[in-house]
Amino acid sequence: MNKNTQRNNSTQKKMLNIVLFGPPGAGKGTQSQLLIDRYQLKHISTGDILRSQIAQGTELGLEAKRYMDNGNLVPDDLVIGMIDQVLRDNMAGNGVIFDGFPRTVAQADALDEVLAALGQGITAMVALEVSEDELIQRLVLRGQMGGRSDDNVETITKRIQVYKTETVPVAEYYQNQDKLHSIYGLGDIGSIFSKICHVIDELVIA
Ligand code: AMP
Repeated sequence: MNKNTQRNNSTQKKMLNIVLFGPPGAGKGTQSQLLIDRYQLKHISTGDILRSQIAQGTELGLEAKRYMDNGNLVPDDLVIGMIDQVLRDNMAGNGVIFDGFPRTVAQADALDEVLAALGQGITAMVALEVSEDELIQRLVLRGQMGGRSDDNVETITKRIQVYKTETVPVAEYYQNQDKLHSIYGLGDIGSIFSKICHVIDELVIA
């Protein structure tokens, strides 16, 4: 890093970068949309980016689909490679909501590294807590309403299992940085949104 970059990094405005965390079906997509409007943030959803790669029939999309169809995580090297440019393109403005990313500790490390190189960092992780029964019910309903091909009982069960083994450690990663804020994610959308805003507003004022 040259001296000019260092100077720019130290004087530039701190962004509001939020990791919205939770199991599949916790309501991350819905809450992301509300948060984007409220705080004028950009939205980075690796699931959306991967689905768009599949729709475009790219090599990455074809490779990722094999994992997604089975409810497995797309390997870290593919996701980290894909996200690098997306991050650099979005690191301007008020901040970013990260939705469905990072999903492994390796991804969280990679994210911290890229943000640090840009003079930024994660402000907070907001984790939505929802019981497993409720998750399954919500996702099955989404599948029946013509939603996603991975919203069927078999794949849903697998995705929740993968979340527990591979993604839950990411919460501990942010807990160790004192950035974890848990929110009870059952109830109406508006009241959950208010609770999230309360957490964020306190951070912005602090
Ligand atoms: P989502 O839309 O976030 O529920 O993601 C749908 C699927 O895309 C997941 O079940 C994974 O197969 C894949 N995926 C999305 N984001 C990631 C990620 N950060 N790391 C690995 N796989 C991911």
